[in-house]
Amino acid sequence: MVGMAGKTKPPGEAMVRGSVVVHRRRCGKVNCRCADGESLHESVVLSYSEDGKTRFLMLPAGEAARVRAAVEAYRSERARLDEAAEAGRAALVARLSQARGRR
Ligand SMILES: [Zn+2]
Repeated sequence: MVGMAGKTKPPGEAMVRGSVVVHRRRCGKVNCRCADGESLHESVVLSYSEDGKTRFLMLPAGEAARVRAAVEAYRSERARLDEAAEAGRAALVARLSQARGRR
């Protein structure tokens, strides 16, 4: 984080594909608080798929909010792209059917 003052996030991580999820698990130690099956250990991970496999990336506590925002940025950008692409196809269909009608 040295030299990062004033920057909220590095530009290369403005968008991240995946979803931020909380994993709850037992660590396996008999004397641990998690042994009751209620007070489980929680870890925040980025869940994403790569080569058809679901992978998890452990997120340090200080990174969760930033990664959530980057995931959200990707979702809204993708939604915007999908919308534009749907509109583009509709326009193409309309133009081609009009051209056919003129003949
Ligand atoms: Zn435990």
